Amino acid sequence: MKTAITLVLAAFAAGMTGCSREQGTASVASTAAVAPVLNGPDARDVHSYADPAVARVTHVDLDLTAHFDTHTMQGTATLDVLSSAPDPQLTLDTRGLKIEAVRDAEGHDLAFQLAPADPLLGAALRISLKTARRVQVQYTTSPDAAALQWLSPAQTAGKQQPYLFSQGEAILTRSWVPTQDSPGIRQTWSATIRAPEALTVVMSGERVAEPKQVAGGQREWRYRMEHPVASYLIAIAIGDLSFQSLGARTGVYTEPSRLAAAASELVDMEKMVAAAESLYGSYRWGRYDVLVLPPSFPFGGMENPRLTFATPTMIAGDRSLVSLVAHELAHSWSGNLVTNATWADFWLNEGFTDYFENRIMERVYGAETAAMLADLRWDDLQDTIKDLGAAKVGDTRLHLDLAGRDPDDGMTDIAYVKGATFLRTIEATIGREPWDAYLRDYFDRHAFQPQTSAGFLKDLREHVIKGDAALEQKLGLDAWVYDPGLPANAVHVKSAALEQIDRRAAAFAREGISADVAKDWNTSQRVRYLNRLPRKLSTRQLAQLATAMNLDTQRNSEVRFAWLQLAVANRYAPALPNLEDFLTSMGRRKFVLPLFKDLMAQGEWGKPLAMRIYAAARPGYHSVTVGSVDKVVPLAAEGQ
Ligand SMILES: [Zn+2]
Repeated sequence: MKTAITLVLAAFAAGMTGCSREQGTASVASTAAVAPVLNGPDARDVHSYADPAVARVTHVDLDLTAHFDTHTMQGTATLDVLSSAPDPQLTLDTRGLKIEAVRDAEGHDLAFQLAPADPLLGAALRISLKTARRVQVQYTTSPDAAALQWLSPAQTAGKQQPYLFSQGEAILTRSWVPTQDSPGIRQTWSATIRAPEALTVVMSGERVAEPKQVAGGQREWRYRMEHPVASYLIAIAIGDLSFQSLGARTGVYTEPSRLAAAASELVDMEKMVAAAESLYGSYRWGRYDVLVLPPSFPFGGMENPRLTFATPTMIAGDRSLVSLVAHELAHSWSGNLVTNATWADFWLNEGFTDYFENRIMERVYGAETAAMLADLRWDDLQDTIKDLGAAKVGDTRLHLDLAGRDPDDGMTDIAYVKGATFLRTIEATIGREPWDAYLRDYFDRHAFQPQTSAGFLKDLREHVIKGDAALEQKLGLDAWVYDPGLPANAVHVKSAALEQIDRRAAAFAREGISADVAKDWNTSQRVRYLNRLPRKLSTRQLAQLATAMNLDTQRNSEVRFAWLQLAVANRYAPALPNLEDFLTSMGRRKFVLPLFKDLMAQGEWGKPLAMRIYAAARPGYHSVTVGSVDKVVPLAAEGQ
């Protein structure tokens, strides 16, 4: 695959200074560097209507009120725009927004047109700019804005106050912010947010003022992000939140009743930041805090800059699932600093991050812990390749074809684990030291910029391969990125401790359960054991297992998930209360979706269960999880 990548930035440079003088008011955008937009064919984003070559947004200033009664946000987004054309058309992404007015900086109406909506991409908002280079869009979000989940007090831990959180990735930010919602178009942002006075507003930026009491029993909060970021990284949460510091620049926010447990779980966070910096250079975002969300949060974590959003299912009580924090922290480099220009190259975010996560875990917790985690991920990759099968073999490529598809389709372990395995294979081939030096330099050279697969390969050839045909041949770079499946040179990190577990699992079928099973085993070993047991077990064997490993009362979400998969595969009825409780008490897609798939695979036994449990659980799930499970479980009315 050949591509020509050029930067469209230079053509705009003169226009930028000119426009900020004309507009008079200084903004963050006028002081921060404008990030380049890539314009090669491989950087064309099929999930955005934006045409940045004509006019591009460089800064978003939000002024919004959160209405918990109507589940809407209402106010304005003021956008700074770069364009060298005389009367350019600015094209924004919107989804479900009610556009009330579009004005220039002096308050004069600008002509605009909201195109018919596509169910996936939303509606293009086209604005005729004339000479304006700052536009204000006045709007209201829809009560079912896909990015925003409004929780009732009953859905929170405290049960007293409502809660709101956003999830922008991949293409959901457009449902609450009218802007160019493409990961390749980086923007600085600032925000003034009004919310009920009892609630705390947190955002993925720096708080620039203390909250101020305003009319209507509200407080006003101000945030800003001075670095240009992809729009999917603009994030907000509003709720009854408290904070505990964990170190000089780290801390945790969550509901007051959950704070002590969260702080204890995350005690190593400052160490993790130091480890990450020692690997790949300084942390460039100021603070690193984690917000532990209510259980409906659809992902494990979301790497919102300065403020990772995390699932409460990572709070295991024994710090055994903190690799999730290492992952989100690693995104401060891979993903947030160097970002996939389009969702077709999602692996540039996630494969790099999965690799980096493991390196952080190795540095903080040692080589054996890291090897166990990597080896479990290898299992995940094999499962994913098998699940995608021949029908979806194209989706086992790192560089994906997502035209006409939901970018969520690309969020599989191919991006994560095949991506990480690719990088691990390069490391093993060229040696850790030169590889680390290259990566550190790579993050520096591409900081705050978008990247494509072709761009990464070009960079690698320039700085690592340097014309060495034998090395190029040995690595097989193009096959890794553009071919399906797993290349033969893939490096599999094997854990000796897990091989031990494999032998125990094999012995189970012959010898039955031994009294000391799982004694002194850590989470990785328990998960591996459950996953390596024969898939067909008798009711008696399952009962023995449940007793020996305390599986009925297991609170560790990963172990619980592995157990429930095994139980469903064997139609083991005694585990059903546990299964139902798990599926209705949290909405993390990684757990929810496979369990519903497993139930549906059990035909007349599992399908009615799946439908009944899903009917009860669905109202509590986030739109991201609902969108995935809807494709698997028929809704009750249809299924009759
Ligand atoms: Zn990630």
